[in-house]
Amino acid sequence: MLSIVEPATEEVMAEVPRAGTGDVDSAVAAARGAFPAWRAVAPGDRAAIMRAIADGIEAKLDSLARIEARNAGKPISDATGEIGMVVETFRYYAAGPERLLGKTIPVAGGVDFTFREPMGVVGLIVPWNFPLAIASWKVAPALAAGNTVVLKPAELTPLSALELEKIALEAGLPEGVLNVVVGPGSTCGQRMVEHPDINKIAFTGSTEVGRSIAEGAAGTIKRVTLELGGKSAAVVFADADIDKAAAAVPYAVFGNAGQDCCARSRILVERSQLDRFLEVMEGTVKAMRVGDPLDSSTEMGPLISASHREAVASFVPDERNVAFRGGVPEGPGYWFPPTVLAPVSNTERAAREEIFGPVACVIPFDGEEEAVRIANDTEYGLSGSIWTRDGGRALRVARAIDTGVLSINSNSSVRVSTPFGGFKQSGIGRELGPDALDHYTEVKNVYYSTEEGS
Ligand code: NAP
Ligand code: MG
Repeated sequence: MLSIVEPATEEVMAEVPRAGTGDVDSAVAAARGAFPAWRAVAPGDRAAIMRAIADGIEAKLDSLARIEARNAGKPISDATGEIGMVVETFRYYAAGPERLLGKTIPVAGGVDFTFREPMGVVGLIVPWNFPLAIASWKVAPALAAGNTVVLKPAELTPLSALELEKIALEAGLPEGVLNVVVGPGSTCGQRMVEHPDINKIAFTGSTEVGRSIAEGAAGTIKRVTLELGGKSAAVVFADADIDKAAAAVPYAVFGNAGQDCCARSRILVERSQLDRFLEVMEGTVKAMRVGDPLDSSTEMGPLISASHREAVASFVPDERNVAFRGGVPEGPGYWFPPTVLAPVSNTERAAREEIFGPVACVIPFDGEEEAVRIANDTEYGLSGSIWTRDGGRALRVARAIDTGVLSINSNSSVRVSTPFGGFKQSGIGRELGPDALDHYTEVKNVYYSTEEGS
């Protein structure tokens, strides 16, 4: 059995059976068996089942949000928003089955057209930071396109995925179409990557594991989409509304206790406004409400585990670079205070590696060219934001930064209807929006001769 721990209390909140590679094989066999019938379901009927799944999740929104808040240690207000997004994601992709449009292509001697076919069995491997939200970004388009699914949640946070499996069955999804396997990545995840009957792996997690998945998938030429790490920049120009930026930007690092691939953990500030920026930011960070995830006023919870807290703490070995910190509750729980390091050079370890915790580096810069150079001086390219009142500059810099998702004068990063994914070592492919459906289908081209007698 696997003990599921609540990070805010360090207590066991549930026990679930732990799967092995044999369970992966059974799940793949069930998914393979269910595939022909699922792909044959009429598009409108598939859409109706997906809408029923959305309704089923919505009916249990409060209890799912509570599970997520307790198991991942995230504030209940965030968890409620995330489960709301899961509902929206299933509704958005419910339109998918009827929008898998092909093309007609002019050719000589006949008619040429394309189909978007399902891939078959897709293996989905997801992390613990946004457990059900990230699962839904994969499950919904995969099902909409007519695939069957084996879903492996992170062992630390499997409870919401197990609930989803039940809700989907109750909503009329046929048996075998969605199979949740709760087991370790090193055995079950790896078996999925190597399994000859899985056609595609969609993964969210660390760049290191993403790399090993890309290698493992090569053996069977599996399709792979990867959402990996980030070290994104918030770029604050002197001509921005500094008070507004300094009050907002901390939430793009300390949200989800920094355990967010989109975290804009490098805060680049134009030197002439550095002091004012830090002064306002300090007020915001010190006032941040860190505590019980189930309290509706909480803004930041604990980290996911003791070992993860140790990894985060290694980036702040002493107080030398700490400009200021927020507070944490006493007692049990894997707490780590929101911590701001300043001034930091982009060559330091804290500015180069993904910390995945509530640690922000404030990096001064001089002028637009240097801002772009520093923002791009990273192996990652997932997210970012630009703060300026100069519209031309905002667009110039947005075009110059090598990253998948940007916001201007806002922390916004993920929306159901817009594409999300990374440049460089932040990943391959896009989730959400219309683009995601393409990643769960194969293009088939058919030529039909119209010559006489054919
Ligand atoms: P991870 O190891 O990449 O885990 C993500 C998922 O992959 C989990 O379901 C995990 O399973 C599974 N997995 C692990 N090894 C695998 C393998 N060899 N083959 C197939 N699947 C495998 O992430 P983590 O260890 O939880 O976190 C480590 C670091 O990754 C974090 O500190 C952070 O920097 C980064 N991270 C990024 C994201 C993101 O959203 N991009 C999310 C989480 C973590 P189990 O955990 O169940 O064993
Ligand atoms: Mg790991």
